[in-house]
Amino acid sequence: MAPAPPPRPPIDGPLDRAAIEAWLGETDQRRLDELWAAANETRRLRVGDEVHLRGLIELSNYCVRACGYCGLRAGNREIERYRMSRDEILDCARTAREFGYGTVVLQSGEDYGIKTDWLAAIVRAIKTETGLAVTLSLGERPDDDLAVWREAGADRYLLRFETSDDELYRLIHPDLLGRRSDRFAILRALRELGYEVGSGIMVGIPGQTRASVAADIDAFRDLDLDMIGIGPYISHPATPLGDHSWQRPIPAEEQIGNDELTVYKAVALTRLACPQANIPSTTALATINQVDGRELGLMRGANVVMPNLTPPEYRAKYEIYPDKACVGETAEMCRGCLQGRIEAIGREIGSGAGGRRHG
Ligand code: SAH
Repeated sequence: MAPAPPPRPPIDGPLDRAAIEAWLGETDQRRLDELWAAANETRRLRVGDEVHLRGLIELSNYCVRACGYCGLRAGNREIERYRMSRDEILDCARTAREFGYGTVVLQSGEDYGIKTDWLAAIVRAIKTETGLAVTLSLGERPDDDLAVWREAGADRYLLRFETSDDELYRLIHPDLLGRRSDRFAILRALRELGYEVGSGIMVGIPGQTRASVAADIDAFRDLDLDMIGIGPYISHPATPLGDHSWQRPIPAEEQIGNDELTVYKAVALTRLACPQANIPSTTALATINQVDGRELGLMRGANVVMPNLTPPEYRAKYEIYPDKACVGETAEMCRGCLQGRIEAIGREIGSGAGGRRHG
């Protein structure tokens, strides 16, 4: 088979940081249509028409941190905390296999009640019993934990750096006593350990500028990420950012929006900057446009979706932001809904583990 031709130059000129910033501010519909077309074409040529399904298991909503944006923050007394049992987690993984998903993603607050060895045994059991790729997203655990889980068979790790603007990050993501939060250092450690590495950002955090999101997309490229998650910031009233008690004053004209159009631009530009990355059309995007946010993400650069496998009794409690899409659905409903949406836009469901492509 002849090698696929290189993608045509997407848009005039190199996609340097200044160009990314200009695109983020673009309002001309014809130019935006060119951006969507370029991102979609690059996606098609570099990662194909398959949409990979990652089954999401939200295994615990306990969290030690005090993030200014997230409803799981330790200080939020309004949510009832839960941690799934080993059997419940394994049941979800079996469902993932039955449904033909190639991967499970185990996600939680930063919960040290998730003991290192307990989770290692669960990872081993999932690998032995189902053979699925295992992705972890458990926050800023020490390198030793990450090493043990890798040894147990975990394949991938997701840790968004949220924003590369250090001042903003420090404001919205306080350190734990005695330990400076350095997500870039953890991403490097994950790479060293042989994980496939995922990161990402929220778009439209109060105090976040267009220039800083352009720098984020540049950082995705420098980090050569395997997976990149981008979603809108969604205000949660039970958080300091949501109730405006933490603010970073910036000129209003520099504030980047958290609207869906801005998120599509960030997704499309990320596809052009990182042509081979796996990029989800996120649940947060589907939350702010429940009609066709998912599809539009997939048509503007994304190639992954994350159907929820969390048992219904826990879903509403994993409230990182309010009114999360699909909260009232069962795993089966999520699967049927996403399959329908993928087929309706002429794409196919991915088979296998759907790892990062190289070359
Ligand atoms: N404790 C893990 C998983 C957190 S939930 C960690 O910190 O990595 C996964 C992602 O949800 C976060 O990385 C963040 O980008 C996103 N998130 C949290 N609160 C949000 C909010 N209010 N609006 C939009 N996305 C949010």
